Amino acid sequence: MKLKVVVVGIEGEINLGFIVRLCRNFAVDELAIVKPSINPWSEEVRRFAANGVVFMDSGRVKVYESLDEALKDVALSACTSAVVDVDSGDMLRKAVNFEEFVNIAKNYNSIAVVFGRESTGLTRDEIAKCDLLVHIDANPEYPVLNLSHAVAIALYRLYKGLEKPSVLNQVEKVDEEMIRLIDRYIDELSGLVARDEWHRQMFSIMFKRFVRRVTLSKQEAGLLLTFIRRIARRLKLEPLESEHSSSS
Ligand code: SAH
Repeated sequence: MKLKVVVVGIEGEINLGFIVRLCRNFAVDELAIVKPSINPWSEEVRRFAANGVVFMDSGRVKVYESLDEALKDVALSACTSAVVDVDSGDMLRKAVNFEEFVNIAKNYNSIAVVFGRESTGLTRDEIAKCDLLVHIDANPEYPVLNLSHAVAIALYRLYKGLEKPSVLNQVEKVDEEMIRLIDRYIDELSGLVARDEWHRQMFSIMFKRFVRRVTLSKQEAGLLLTFIRRIARRLKLEPLESEHSSSS
């Protein structure tokens, strides 16, 4: 899936710098700048792009004379706006929210998300050139986000929705064998601490389900095993029955 970010008539160098940085953060394929009001190659833009300049210097930032040109090779385009129609019947300003858009986008192999000017957003003509109008849900009393913040939210949602890689995916997950071993210790511990058979069963079921409801890494599971194994060992040396009888 090819992802293109299009910014139309951008007015702020700081915003553009942040957007370049975001394009690298979220593995965008191209940043299309349509008729900018500033110099996109300025030092200020580069400064705010930080290590995103790599994206810029790799030729993935392109300047276009028109929105038509920027959208030429795109299968699905979405214009974005804070201003949407609720009940006036203005079809051009009927919007879907970003979650819906992400689900739709999954069916296409190239998409573009189009953002407007800081001062006036996108014109009606520009919105008419996109396949969809998309709104990022925000306080209805003031839903207008800063341009680069809107880009950040949009790219993050797409990144998550399109299941792009994350460093967290490299963490080794717990395997079945370890879970079964944890189960054995849960059974053993439940037997050691329960008052009666009913109680033992409740402890056992609750803890087994509890373990399955967390996303455990292999290292966390290993530490958990050591922890309960040692508790079990201690309890066997000093059974609870003796505590009960001495305290009651
Ligand atoms: N006063 C302008 C505000 C533009 S904000 C207007 O009336 O439209 C700059 C750009 O950020 C917008 O063109 C849009 O692309 C994006 N944006 C800001 N808030 C948004 C929101 N809630 N949903 C979707 N896009 C938003």
